[in-house]
Amino acid sequence: MESQLHEHLKRQALYWLKDKMTDLCANEVKLFIRRKRLKADALGINLERKEARIIEVKVTKEDFKRDEVLHANYGYHALANYAYIMTPVGLLQKEEIPIGYGLLEIDEYDVIKVIKRPVRNPKPQLKLDTLVKRTGRAATNAVLFQELSKETKDITKGAFSKKPKVHLISATCPSCKKRKQYLIKKEQETVTCIARGCKHDIPLSKARVHHITAYNEDFFSQMQALMNDSI
Ligand SMILES: [Zn+2]
Repeated sequence: MESQLHEHLKRQALYWLKDKMTDLCANEVKLFIRRKRLKADALGINLERKEARIIEVKVTKEDFKRDEVLHANYGYHALANYAYIMTPVGLLQKEEIPIGYGLLEIDEYDVIKVIKRPVRNPKPQLKLDTLVKRTGRAATNAVLFQELSKETKDITKGAFSKKPKVHLISATCPSCKKRKQYLIKKEQETVTCIARGCKHDIPLSKARVHHITAYNEDFFSQMQALMNDSI
């Protein structure tokens, strides 16, 4: 599992790239080179200068040592015009940085300093077009995923989902286009739109439906007890 710190630094790397007047940037950009799959932690593109920069985040020394890609001849430095390694302050010495890479350090207040400048690669192995395409896809996926994960967040974390009787879903009404949440039974085929003044039927097999969570009998008995208690 990815650490909180790694996740945080990846996001900061993106802000830093955006600041460098890049037109397009994204985290986790999938790249393919010589049948190898790589994932750049952050990639930024400047269309006017026709330049691509990659940042690879390392939060532990083990992680840095283990990463064969950094040292390989198909590594990030070979794929873009500039490549950096970004770490917390003091993790790596300048001498440890593989040839061509720059070193960025980020302090506890998210201030990023260039410790070592990268060497410009005039002829990246991947074309700018390819990098634009890959970065565009990653950026688009990130936006859509963010929207979806907000909408389908399970606040019960599946606590009552063993042998469920009732499901909480969100669905878009084909008539008024409002997206609302509904409690349904497992095989239920339609719900009636609850948007004010609509009352249109929503066929669940056709509508855009997302399952949020489910509730079992434990949930009901606990709820029932609490309800009776409060009367
Ligand atoms: Zn409706």
